[in-house]
Amino acid sequence: MFEKKPSLKLADEMSQATALKNKILRAATILPEPVQMFEKILIANRGEIALRIQRACREMGIKTVAVHSEADADAKYVKLADESVCIGPAPSSQSYLQVPAIISAAEVTDAQAIHPGYGFLSENADFAERVEKSGFVFIGPRAETIRLMGDKVSAKNAMKKAGVPCVPGVDGALPDDPAEIIKIARSIGYPVIIKAAGGGGGRGMRVVHTEAALLNAVVMTRSEAQSAFNNPMVYMEKFLENPRHIEIQILADQHGNAVYLGERDCSMQRRHQKIIEEAPAPLLNPKLRNKIGERCAEACRKIGYRGAGTFEFLYENGEFFFIEMNTRVQVEHPVSEMITGIDIVQQQIRIAAGEKLPFRQKDIEFRGHAIECRINAEHPYKFTPSPGRITTWHTPGGPGIRVDSHVYANYFVPPHYDSMIGKLIAYGDTREQALARMRTALSEMAVEGIETNIPLHQELMLDAAFIQGGTSIHYLEHKLAESKKVK
Ligand code: ADP
Repeated sequence: MFEKKPSLKLADEMSQATALKNKILRAATILPEPVQMFEKILIANRGEIALRIQRACREMGIKTVAVHSEADADAKYVKLADESVCIGPAPSSQSYLQVPAIISAAEVTDAQAIHPGYGFLSENADFAERVEKSGFVFIGPRAETIRLMGDKVSAKNAMKKAGVPCVPGVDGALPDDPAEIIKIARSIGYPVIIKAAGGGGGRGMRVVHTEAALLNAVVMTRSEAQSAFNNPMVYMEKFLENPRHIEIQILADQHGNAVYLGERDCSMQRRHQKIIEEAPAPLLNPKLRNKIGERCAEACRKIGYRGAGTFEFLYENGEFFFIEMNTRVQVEHPVSEMITGIDIVQQQIRIAAGEKLPFRQKDIEFRGHAIECRINAEHPYKFTPSPGRITTWHTPGGPGIRVDSHVYANYFVPPHYDSMIGKLIAYGDTREQALARMRTALSEMAVEGIETNIPLHQELMLDAAFIQGGTSIHYLEHKLAESKKVK
């Protein structure tokens, strides 16, 4: 009944043995160095990702500060945070993008680090710099890395140098000389795509099919790039006609270690906006996955990357072509978490605190299949935004179902922000099981008061080509155009 307590001498020997064991494990990079973990983190974002980060912090015993606009003042996740600070009126230009207001909020609440989430200021190098100069830790890569990757020409050059395969094209920006531009396009072969070096969000791109249309397209993209991104630099690459979008998730610490957490297929898109993502990518050869994953991890080691990041590729005829790198957590990170069992947000925090990655590539296993449906407050076929009060909000459950959402019954979806109100994620041992669970989950989910794209997801989960897997980035738009013709 009474457990025999070890004698003092024995306890001392045991703790010495544990210390020695830990030293050996640490030397083998299995155990992280003891580091000072943050006590309080400010979350510079809103909506589901603000709640996701808050949950990660809570699990780690870290206090959270929510910053919010006036429109988000009553949101539950704001109330759930340990502290909250209103940083301005509803428009994001006056709140979530207000750098001085966010820095002051961190100062008055004594936060030690700032997590930027995705969107808003997450890929703004000047913000990252201001955060660190003000004495806080930016939970993300160094400002120089964000700057390097934020310019698509410098990103492509850096990746090429690091051995990552890129879309065929020329290195660097296009020259002014029309004859030179024509020569470059001929050497690449039509169709080509003209892209703004500073572009983002699917804007600042133009496809050119013939030489007759080339010079005009360059002039137009240049002037658009100047007005939209304040940078007239454009470049040219081969336009791939039927690719899939496959991206690699990586994690890299500040001690030179980097791993890949497999890939995600995000080909189901409308207007370059992803709506369904899954991991692993259907029908992808595991050898190819490991090869491209290792290339990305190696590129991270070479450029001294720190944090979580995503290498985005177009994939066609068994080949990967790098298009850009996202230096932040992605909306679709949960599908990688489901198949690896790794909490990506917690790892971001641990890396920022200076910890070593607690695993090596050989420790990472890809198990089962996960699919994510982005639930948007919008008309399922017209895609018009549908903000307003949610009267019924019933979320599904059961084995393998995860719902990442900040929404609840009686929540008011503000009209000022992105229309995504949550993510429904289904996990299964096989893709078939994940699909079956997703179908059940979608049928259980009930949202009233606003319109959502749930009916479109239900249709896609029964779509023969999607079920087969491996559809291209144009599939959804073609399908929608066809169904309009039929109606
Ligand atoms: P953004 O930063 O604006 O998202 P990307 O470079 O990631 O720009 O490209 C966005 C999308 O544009 C891709 O997902 C793809 O659909 C299309 N695209 C970009 N480059 C090419 C290309 N070379 N060939 C075919 N499609 C492309």
